[in-house]
Amino acid sequence: MNPTHPPLLATHDVFNQAPELVDYNLYAHNSALQEAVAREGASLAKQTHDWLLERGGELGGRQMLEWAAQANKSPPTLKLFDNGGNRRDEVEFHPTYHELMSYLKRHGASAGPWANPVAGAHVRRAALYLLYAEIEDGTLCPTTMTYAVVPAIVRDRPLAEEWLPRIYSLDYDKRFLPAAQKRGVTLGMGLTEKQGGSDVRANTSRAELISGREYSIVGHKWFFSAPMCDAFLILAHSPGGLSCFFLPRWTPDGRLNDIRIQRLKDKMGDKSNAGSEVEFWGARAWLVGEEGRGVPTILEMGTYCRLDCALGTAGLIRQATSQALHHAHYRSAFGKLLIAQPLMKNVLADLAIESEAATALAMRLARAFDAQTDEAESLLRRVLTPAAKYWICKRGPAVGGEAMEVLGGNGFIEEGVMARIYRQMPLNSIWEGSGNVMCLDVLRAMGKRPRCLEVLAAEVAPALGRDARFDTFVGKLKNGLSDAQHIETRARQLTQDIALAVQGALLMQFAPDYVAEAFCASRLAESSFGGGSFGNLPGNSNFDALLKRAWPQ
Ligand SMILES: Cc1cc2nc3c(=O)[nH]c(=O)nc-3n(C[C@H](O)[C@H](O)[C@H](O)COP(=O)(O)OP(=O)(O)OC[C@H]3O[C@@H](n4cnc5c(N)ncnc54)[C@H](O)[C@@H]3O)c2cc1C
Repeated sequence: MNPTHPPLLATHDVFNQAPELVDYNLYAHNSALQEAVAREGASLAKQTHDWLLERGGELGGRQMLEWAAQANKSPPTLKLFDNGGNRRDEVEFHPTYHELMSYLKRHGASAGPWANPVAGAHVRRAALYLLYAEIEDGTLCPTTMTYAVVPAIVRDRPLAEEWLPRIYSLDYDKRFLPAAQKRGVTLGMGLTEKQGGSDVRANTSRAELISGREYSIVGHKWFFSAPMCDAFLILAHSPGGLSCFFLPRWTPDGRLNDIRIQRLKDKMGDKSNAGSEVEFWGARAWLVGEEGRGVPTILEMGTYCRLDCALGTAGLIRQATSQALHHAHYRSAFGKLLIAQPLMKNVLADLAIESEAATALAMRLARAFDAQTDEAESLLRRVLTPAAKYWICKRGPAVGGEAMEVLGGNGFIEEGVMARIYRQMPLNSIWEGSGNVMCLDVLRAMGKRPRCLEVLAAEVAPALGRDARFDTFVGKLKNGLSDAQHIETRARQLTQDIALAVQGALLMQFAPDYVAEAFCASRLAESSFGGGSFGNLPGNSNFDALLKRAWPQ
């Protein structure tokens, strides 16, 4: 035995590793979100604040973290047949998935603002959604879809009478039974087919009239998330054109509807959620809205989903930033904590600004969903939804990659949450209308309703005259929008600039001066990259204040 060799059981002491970021209140330590809630949902602010504080504590607790990790480590599996060879087409989930779904339903994430439509209800839900997205995202898919179908269903009286009480219910009922026997339901949507997703007019699924509003659907969907939902809105061609149909999992006579799950998607992220490919073998469905007007009917649902994409990514960006800040507070390199290294401060402060800007924009957008009957807000909602969805979700993967790098090698390892966050990030950018489609939608909105431009101008006007960089940026944006030449080719630049202008206006009016100053210098000034790579804030930025404001504990 070598006497200089250390005893076998004490090979080394562990030091200079950051503890896990857990048992903290996600809301209490998120000043940007608290301020946005007070600003955008003012009439409910006090009550909402206390409620969100409770949710923030729960969501930052170990229990939630463990459920989220487990639900993603144990993805759903498909049970096509029972022992007797009968088709079941049933997806089985880990119990933690059901716990998470119960949590969301219990707190009104899937229908709260519809069931209790008080002023500020969408903002309140938006804040919960953003906080929850920090912890788990797969369960948000059916939650969002359930929230988003309501405006379409409300207009169909028989459907509304039968389904809304269970949609509004705070009970999550995981049982695979006809909806009439369940305490609560979730809903999904099916547009995308093999030959076309963005271009839904390329759909080939067919609907044949049985009687009244009842149809038989033959066809398929190439992406069909959350197939264990109790019903779906889908698109199919009927004799009168592309129409929207309500497709329940079970028919009213208690039979399993002819929806055949072909297989589950093997996705790069969003692991806890079941994504599937399905075929409809004469499945029973009911026309929703006017025949031939399926696209506008289902697109309204898409608008709510897009709001959630922006909110969800704002939550993911916040969690990625929190993880990075937390790590840098504990990890030393070259004799100093990372948080004290000038270049790392710049990267972290830049991430913090992105997070605050994403939160401010997503929450402002949420207010436009509260003001359902206000004309200006509805025009703003029309144009800002695709713009915010585009820009916030486009920034997500960049933030995920940069925050992961702050954690060094640990960021790349599955044990923490960074790898999951990173894999989730691109999804919000792809589904519910991918990047280009969002930018073209912004142009479409402004082309059809020129008043959108006025409403946007009014939104940024209160911040004009405070900072020359902002004024110049807005002036150029106005010129760019009024110049029709090559406008489609320039749609990304214009959409990005709309989002940046609104973010700038919000931060200049409502955030501390040092946040607004750093945002203008790094995102709006001529010399900036317009929010390109991170860590490019000017050397005289107030780094300490920026980092303190974003610090998650
Ligand atoms: C995990 C996951 C779950 C999903 N769940 C569902 C679901 O439940 N229900 C559902 O219906 N769909 C679902 N989708 C599908 C998703 O909505 C589509 O993938 C998305 O809308 C893009 O459609 P596509 O895949 O057919 O791509 P395409 O439509 O072929 O688009 C490919 C690319 O071309 C771009 N593009 C399209 N048109 C233009 C144009 N005119 N000019 C410039 N660029 C253009 C798009 O922006 C995109 O980047 C899901 C997708 C994923 C990844």
